[in-house]
Amino acid sequence: MISPMAVHVEGTGAGRITARITTPSGIETRVTTESNYPLDHSATPWLPPLLTAGMRKGWDIAFDGPVDSTALRGASGAQKIFLDWYPKRFREVSISAEPARVVTGATGVGCFFSGGVDSFYSAITESDRITHLIFVHGFDIDIDDESLAARALAGARESAAELGTPLIEVKTTMRSAFGNRLPLDWGYDFHGSALAHVGLALSQHLSTVIIPSSNCLEELAPWGSHPDLDPLWSSGTVVFEHHELELHRLGKIRRIGENRTAMNHLRVCWENLDGAFNCGRCAKCVRTQIGLAAARAQCATFPEFIDVRAVRRMNMRSRDRGYLKTALAALQESGITDADLRRAVNTAIRRSYWTPAVFYMRVAGSRVSQVIRLRLRR
Ligand SMILES: [Zn+2]
Repeated sequence: MISPMAVHVEGTGAGRITARITTPSGIETRVTTESNYPLDHSATPWLPPLLTAGMRKGWDIAFDGPVDSTALRGASGAQKIFLDWYPKRFREVSISAEPARVVTGATGVGCFFSGGVDSFYSAITESDRITHLIFVHGFDIDIDDESLAARALAGARESAAELGTPLIEVKTTMRSAFGNRLPLDWGYDFHGSALAHVGLALSQHLSTVIIPSSNCLEELAPWGSHPDLDPLWSSGTVVFEHHELELHRLGKIRRIGENRTAMNHLRVCWENLDGAFNCGRCAKCVRTQIGLAAARAQCATFPEFIDVRAVRRMNMRSRDRGYLKTALAALQESGITDADLRRAVNTAIRRSYWTPAVFYMRVAGSRVSQVIRLRLRR
């Protein structure tokens, strides 16, 4: 019989929690999460990421400490969703843990805040009830990139101060020490349960945690954070809410375009080419810049002009196509008739239809060349 993935929660300081995780083959990893707020030292915060990892690898999971009983029930629901989405990649696993019931009396409402379009939109529109914004270093910002983390954190601190909300600062090795090493796909599999880990770790302060949506209703597809999945990570003390499904991205950009704080601190770039805060060249930057132009919003954190060459060349997912078509119409309505930009957006839209075909040809091509190489070897 294969032994399970064993999880041992180690006692550390108030604002620091560590789990020692031992895989069935005996490889040991330590994951540490720390914050300027005291954290939950039970095994509960470790359940979502370890369940996701266990299902992806086909490993049963054994916790040596009590896990919240509501979270354990939710985990069965999460397993059903993953198996439904990814029947070939995920496997049903068993969880061995002592069920516990914890009452903390916390009443805070937290909202994850990376400083991007989705998080600014949720932070602004739900500001009446949000009591804390949550900034995480170690997810979209590489754990070793201290300089980018410092700049992003400074922006998040200023934004939180201007929005009048305290900022919970979290740093975690969940992605670098664990998710990336197995490896797990960050977008499709892991980021939602990694966010849930942080939310559950804040159970002494928060009773609700808002996860800003990545996609609107018509764009919904299997994805690590999803309105069907996120609430299932809730415990008896912390409830997760996936926020905003009605409004599409351009609508969100229009809304945050009216907010001075957002326009002074917006941060969407993950590539940070040449150390730039928003490089203005990656697909995410360029998509956002087009939306900002269509919304006639002036944002201080982007290059002044849109790089039309970058627009033409950007890598697009098929779900971005609708966004760009809407943006193109909005540019026209806003009286922006820059012919080069319109041509570049149209080229990007046309190319997006080709992307799956080119990908297939590349895959097929590499198979053909492999066969040729094998024949030559004989
Ligand atoms: Zn960029």
